[in-house]
Amino acid sequence: MSAVMINLWYVVAAALFIFGLKQLGSPATAVRGNVLSSLAMVIAIAVTLLNKEILTFELILVAALIGAVIGAIAAQKVEMTSMPEMVALFNGSGGIASLMVGWAALYNMGNTTFTDVTILLSIVIGGMTFSGSILAWGKLSEVMTSAAVVFGAQRIVNAGILVGLVVCSVLFCLNPSVDSPYLYAVIALSLLFGVMAVLPIGGADMPVVISLLNSYSGLAACAAGFAINNNILIVAGSMVGAAGIILTNIMCKAMNRSLGHVLFSGFGAVKQATKVEGEVKPIVAEDAFLILEAAQSVSFVPGYGMAVAQAQHVVRELGELLEKNGAEVTYAIHPVAGRMPGHMNVLLAEANVPYDQLVEMEDINPRIDNVDVAVVIGANDVVNPSARNDENSPIYGMPIINVDQARTVFVLKRSMGSGFSGVDNPLFFGDNTRMLFGDAKQSIAAVVAEFKG
Ligand code: NDP
Repeated sequence: MSAVMINLWYVVAAALFIFGLKQLGSPATAVRGNVLSSLAMVIAIAVTLLNKEILTFELILVAALIGAVIGAIAAQKVEMTSMPEMVALFNGSGGIASLMVGWAALYNMGNTTFTDVTILLSIVIGGMTFSGSILAWGKLSEVMTSAAVVFGAQRIVNAGILVGLVVCSVLFCLNPSVDSPYLYAVIALSLLFGVMAVLPIGGADMPVVISLLNSYSGLAACAAGFAINNNILIVAGSMVGAAGIILTNIMCKAMNRSLGHVLFSGFGAVKQATKVEGEVKPIVAEDAFLILEAAQSVSFVPGYGMAVAQAQHVVRELGELLEKNGAEVTYAIHPVAGRMPGHMNVLLAEANVPYDQLVEMEDINPRIDNVDVAVVIGANDVVNPSARNDENSPIYGMPIINVDQARTVFVLKRSMGSGFSGVDNPLFFGDNTRMLFGDAKQSIAAVVAEFKG
């Protein structure tokens, strides 16, 4: 296929990526958006493989086969609650792939200085994305502590690594070659920098890291696109880079944190929340039913625990019963509820909850005092009033869904344990709070059973 035809097909693929992304913006069109984007990817791959500069199809096919088998098995096996870890691994794979592509491009003859710089960028950004993502995976899957890890001279050490990285990069660019010792130094220092950059981030700040690493993986791919002069890689990489940075911004806003604060302050490292004490008032499903039966307006506030319990279907069933009973039913969604952006939307869509019943935090809060019962289903950090009231709390300033201001609050969880950020929650001791202890799916099913008589 001629270079002109290849680039024409790349334009078609790029247009499909853009339309696909646009359609992913609404739950109603998201499935079509996904199909369009997949089609774009198929075109991009097929056209790239038709490029006559390709030397061996055998190796490509073997690699594609191995990748497809791993991907298919992983997609079957991974639990919905482990998706963030999976995304972290995807980001890491993107990073290491860009590093490899950049490294391989060094073997090309006659690279210009511009190409050498983009090769270096794909190696540096790819390397730090890879190691940072592996660490993020470790934190999210709790194979290591999910808290921020900070130590005395951390900033000095990080600054030292960064200076070393810049110096070695410049020395490499002055005389770029595959044998350059500075190449190996750059690779080692970028891997180290990725680890050191993610180490001090933890707790409730993790969503920002995931979306930031997602953005980096796009930037690395974009740099790799320049390194091997592949237009679709440049376009797709910059889209991922831009989308990731927009998401990072949304996440920061959702937590009322600046990016600088997330990256450098160490979540909860200095602050110690005020100790929470008080009386806990448990409730059983039979009594919860009586209160819900009398309610005129009920708002479900789902969180990570709903995903763990896989309670979304039975929640929808309860929602329908409440509606039939004459109550107004809403689902209040916090932007960082769960463990990945849009986590709750995905679960509720899977259970066929009508989109128009989903209400964003900004829309429910002004009218929450008119809600008769707020049913908190496995959410904790995103409804923690200390984010509003306790200046010493590590999550102080993070906007929350103000369920404590509803007339009655049911909190469905298994214990008095804290949420992802490890911060105690005074909501559990509120005068209007009743704790419905147990697995969320079983608790809701018990209430549904009461409704059905
Ligand atoms: P939290 O992690 O704060 O709390 C979840 C609660 O669910 C726990 O307190 C747990 O209590 C309860 N739970 C767990 N399993 C069950 C079950 N089977 N049945 C009932 N309850 C259960 O969740 P939130 O959604 O409120 O907050 C999300 C947190 O995760 C935030 O801190 C956010 O910053 C962070 N985060 C978000 C990401 C995102 O992109 N959305 C990514 C990474 C982190 P118990 O053990 O007592 O049952």
